[in-house]
Amino acid sequence: MTGTQFPSEAVHIIGAGLAGSEAAWQIAKSGIPVVLHEMRPGRMTEAHRTDGLAELVCSNSFRSDDAANNAVGLLHAEMRRLGSLIMRSADANQVPAGGALAVDRDGFSAAVTNALHDHPLIEIDRAELKGLPPAESRNVIVATGPLTSAPLADAIRELTDENALAFFDAIAPIVHRDSIDMSVAWFQSRYDKVGPGGTGADYINCPLTKEQYDAFVDALISGEKTDFKEWETNTPYFDGCLPIEVMAERGRETLRHGPMKPVGLTNLHDPSVKAYAIVQLRQDNKLGTLYNMVGFQTKLKHGAQQRVFRTIPGLENAEFARLGGLHRNTFLNSPKLLDSQLRLRAQPRLRFAGQMTGCEGYVESASIGLIAGLYAAADARATLLAPPPATSALGSLLGHITGASPPTRNGDGSRLRGNEKTVAKKQAISARALVDLDRWIADNLQIAAAA
Ligand SMILES: Cc1cc2nc3c(=O)[nH]c(=O)nc-3n(C[C@H](O)[C@H](O)[C@H](O)COP(=O)(O)OP(=O)(O)OC[C@H]3O[C@@H](n4cnc5c(N)ncnc54)[C@H](O)[C@@H]3O)c2cc1C
Repeated sequence: MTGTQFPSEAVHIIGAGLAGSEAAWQIAKSGIPVVLHEMRPGRMTEAHRTDGLAELVCSNSFRSDDAANNAVGLLHAEMRRLGSLIMRSADANQVPAGGALAVDRDGFSAAVTNALHDHPLIEIDRAELKGLPPAESRNVIVATGPLTSAPLADAIRELTDENALAFFDAIAPIVHRDSIDMSVAWFQSRYDKVGPGGTGADYINCPLTKEQYDAFVDALISGEKTDFKEWETNTPYFDGCLPIEVMAERGRETLRHGPMKPVGLTNLHDPSVKAYAIVQLRQDNKLGTLYNMVGFQTKLKHGAQQRVFRTIPGLENAEFARLGGLHRNTFLNSPKLLDSQLRLRAQPRLRFAGQMTGCEGYVESASIGLIAGLYAAADARATLLAPPPATSALGSLLGHITGASPPTRNGDGSRLRGNEKTVAKKQAISARALVDLDRWIADNLQIAAAA
């Protein structure tokens, strides 16, 4: 396989992405040794570009940080309570992004890498695992993500006797800030929303008239696309990350109601004229020299991307730090294959975490890494960890992945009703989630740490 060593007393984690890095941190934090196997830079994926751990491959956003009203914001809050390395590193490398928590991707990755590198109980093994660790490794977490290298994906597929499912994910282009014409574009957040670390004027906006929008949609539809490989032809797209040309093909107005919607924004250069459509760019690095085109993931060929995107007013001379792309995504049929602690039913020494379990997004992947880490640490101590409360975002996500039913009752036993979706109820649910999680932490983790 590799020259890699597999000391049996350590927990072995394959893949140091969002999930694997968080899992390693949680395990080492509770006093258990970890070997973290990461194949980069020796072998790269189609999307990763650096040797940094927890590299963000596309957007630099961790989405909403509003714990009271938003499920991802609540997940942020819960992870912070659990001492998450991913959240600590994100908070320390925040860039302004309206209501969202966005980060300087290099600073974020460096913070995670340094913390793991400096931890005395963590060994980082830079090697591709081309198969599963030997049977003596009794406590393994597989967190190799949507772009798991082919030999390992084959080994897992063989073991699960199940065709891994697949869909597409896409990457949006990144533009050098100083190549954007600010006499045409302007800074503003939608509805002037001031988020964590934001000013209310965090996005760069490029306005299009109806004629410009129509011409842009035509250019997208006729632009040259990357060819599909044979295995790709019947693979569906991940709906939250549709390529813009696919959206454009679905209807002329689709983009105006999606990533190019003009609402909540006023052209500072010409306030009386309402733009027909608007392209937004979000800060991508701490220095503010790079901006990514929000929602502009694409399968257009690179030449076509440069040509078509430079028809957007303000981007006529845009210099691209990175162009968009599209990739396959591999994941397991978790409700069928995994138990409630994320262990493979067929081989419980193997636990899965991150996007391979079928969750989507940086935050979700990291949070599943976090809980997988806690379970692996409990196993290493031969203790039993109670599941996180089903009322918490973490417990609910875990239940969703492993096929457990979502909660239908409040803590007092009364039934959840339809109007629970109102804002006031949402906030009550969030508050209850944090109270329940705090109780779970107090009941389980302090005791575990002391054991
Ligand atoms: C192209 C693309 C774009 C995406 N865009 C977004 C986005 O904008 N926003 C968002 O929230 N989510 C996005 N996602 C979804 C997802 O949340 C991220 O991919 C996230 O990084 C998943 O975390 P993970 O830890 O499961 O996997 P990863 O972060 O990908 O980590 C897996 C790690 O395993 C390593 N590895 C793989 N195979 C092996 C092996 N055999 N041996 C050793 N190491 C191995 C890889 O090098 C990598 O470091 C995107 C996914 C893809 C593929």
